[in-house]
Amino acid sequence: MEYNLYINGASVPTATHMDIFNPATGELLGKCPVAGREELDAAVAAAAQAFKSWSKVSNEDRKAACHAIGKLLEDNAEELAKLLTQEQGKPLNGVGSRFELGGCQAWTHFTADLELPVEVIQDNEEGRVELHRKPIGVVGSITPWNWPLMIAIWHVIPALRTGNTVVIKPSPYTPLSTLRMIELISGILPKGVLNVISGRDDLGQMMSEHEDIHKIIFTGSCATGEKIMASAAPTLKRLTLELGGNDAGIVLPDVDAKAIAEGLFWGSFINGGQTCAALKRLYVHADVYDDVCAALTEFARNIPMGNGLDENMIMGPVQNEMQYNKVRDLVEDAVAGGARVLLGANPEEGTGYFYPLTILADVSDGTRIVDEEQFGPALPIIKYTDVNDAIARANASDNGLGGSIWSNDIEQAKALASRLECGSAWINKHGMIQPNVPFGGVKGSGIGVEFGVDGLKEYTTIQAVFT
Ligand code: NAD
Repeated sequence: MEYNLYINGASVPTATHMDIFNPATGELLGKCPVAGREELDAAVAAAAQAFKSWSKVSNEDRKAACHAIGKLLEDNAEELAKLLTQEQGKPLNGVGSRFELGGCQAWTHFTADLELPVEVIQDNEEGRVELHRKPIGVVGSITPWNWPLMIAIWHVIPALRTGNTVVIKPSPYTPLSTLRMIELISGILPKGVLNVISGRDDLGQMMSEHEDIHKIIFTGSCATGEKIMASAAPTLKRLTLELGGNDAGIVLPDVDAKAIAEGLFWGSFINGGQTCAALKRLYVHADVYDDVCAALTEFARNIPMGNGLDENMIMGPVQNEMQYNKVRDLVEDAVAGGARVLLGANPEEGTGYFYPLTILADVSDGTRIVDEEQFGPALPIIKYTDVNDAIARANASDNGLGGSIWSNDIEQAKALASRLECGSAWINKHGMIQPNVPFGGVKGSGIGVEFGVDGLKEYTTIQAVFT
């Protein structure tokens, strides 16, 4: 099936397409339109034109429009979930496509109800000062391939809610589900308010450089984040950058290994490990090291992996060959360096990018799989004896997205968590996010936050009004 762009309320075909394959079967799923400068200019011009009226729509009407989008996502959830599974690989069930569509709805409705009222910061005999929040203009959204629909919603809804208009570009690995979702949503909005274009990576660069795009919201790798910041500099765009992570989890000696195994598993292997804030390095105290390794391996051993359209599957393939090769290389490098394979590590030849759930023990810092973001279903477990040393090792990273402490002593765990250099710190869990809590990275993991009132503010400029 040939997909189209959606610009200014109309379906727009392109001269060239690229093939999109199902990562579980290798079968052709659809043909993605490849947009260039001309289509980008048309989408930006439509968004700029629509901004003139959308920015003046009343707060209540914009709120209602966002709720209508939430309802539309609910009505079309099953169609979108099936397309997402075929394109991204994640299963329908488990923490898969249906879960992702549920997240899209929840975030949309929650964000619809957020308010940014006028703030009075002074009102006395010397005068009154009010802070008004205004929309920025045309927002360019650039998304990755791991949670394509949820991340698109995270970008689009707060932008629309605050009166901006949007041009969104999905990842070239997973464009079709976004093209379809945005086509559906655009259909219930005034034309030009929300536009979708797809193409290759250079289209993202063109967006970052475009003089009529006023803000870029980007989720993706650190390397691309750096490029966007450089491309956006000459036009002084507002930027929110949600970048990569290499989250550490630290297990203290007082835990019950069996009780935390499930939490550790999902913290690490959610979406096959292809999640920015997944647990990617696990530091375990020597006293409980063998028990934690055994309990986690036992839990992971029973998770079924296969074609995500099969209702019995809980885990799908890696999304693409590039990432599959990266995970395989990092695991091979660790094993060559002396890592002990507790589970997985030997992918079978065959159709689809299925890499087995892999757990490696006796790995140390300095090994590539510890120092780099693997972004796949392989977890290194590192032994430590001194918790201060473990904290120092957790912080010895350019990234700072999330981190976790696992202990029965909650107060001690919180004290240690406060020493982690990261945007989100969890106790006895990892990776939990919610629409009312700001989420973002420190250090090389990004700039700015998403979600909640703080996230909403990033789509506005402040005007101080003095009387
Ligand atoms: P990526 O950086 O390769 O691609 C992301 C998007 O950027 C794609 O749409 C791509 O076409 C576009 N792009 C590529 N080059 C560009 C350029 N020069 N200018 C503008 N756009 C360009 O990332 P990915 O591989 O799709 O995603 C995985 C990465 O995303 C991981 O590092 C992961 O940790 C990170 N991520 C972060 C968060 C977060 O919230 N912090 C969430 C999900 C994923």
